[in-house]
Amino acid sequence: MQRHHYSRLAPRVALIDMDGTLFDSMPGHAEAWHRMMSELGVNTTLEEFFYYEGRTAQSTIEIVFNRELGRGTDKEEAERLYSRKKELFNAIGEAPVMPGVKEVLNTFVAAGLNRVLVTGSGQNSLLDRLEREFPGVFAPELMVTGRDVTHGKPHPEPFLRGMQLARVKPSQSIVLENAPLGVKAGDTAGAFTIGVATGPIPCEALSEAGAAVTFRSMAECAAEIHTLLLSICLISLEL
Ligand code: CA
Repeated sequence: MQRHHYSRLAPRVALIDMDGTLFDSMPGHAEAWHRMMSELGVNTTLEEFFYYEGRTAQSTIEIVFNRELGRGTDKEEAERLYSRKKELFNAIGEAPVMPGVKEVLNTFVAAGLNRVLVTGSGQNSLLDRLEREFPGVFAPELMVTGRDVTHGKPHPEPFLRGMQLARVKPSQSIVLENAPLGVKAGDTAGAFTIGVATGPIPCEALSEAGAAVTFRSMAECAAEIHTLLLSICLISLEL
């Protein structure tokens, strides 16, 4: 609250990331990116793709191409390569729902928080599963995907767009994220940002990116989220 100069926090909406937050899909994404680049003869490590998480496809390709080929990419090439990456991702099989996240979503619903999906992904195979896995949690009109924004995370645009859709201010917004770039985007957008370390990236990296609170797993977040929401409301009342 001090950092963002808010006199109070009154959470009304939870802006929720998809990959690595709702689905344990990051190992599959990293694998698919790595294989796609290998097919092109471009050298990458599996782990680096965890750090690009949240970026648009074109931005990810540009980082790798600039480093390995000394050139960027254009929209057409990026779309073609992203299609191939999506094929490889889909061939890996269905990513599991992140253990604990259903409990976190239930707590948001019970606390009367509206939910907005904010993802850099345009991966239909996951977007189509939302209603099946989390029935009634996400309304189709309250979704921001990679297709809706000019700037992907770490730019605040995706979260600002989400707040706009839900008609709330940053001081009324909570962000749930697993990746440093996503946390940075949420914090820069002015939201109270919760960072959950669901992959190889440690809590410290999420704190450094601007997370107000971090959890070591989604299960830990599920156990604590009710108390956290209560604390936010009580602190705001005292002030
Ligand atoms: Ca993510």
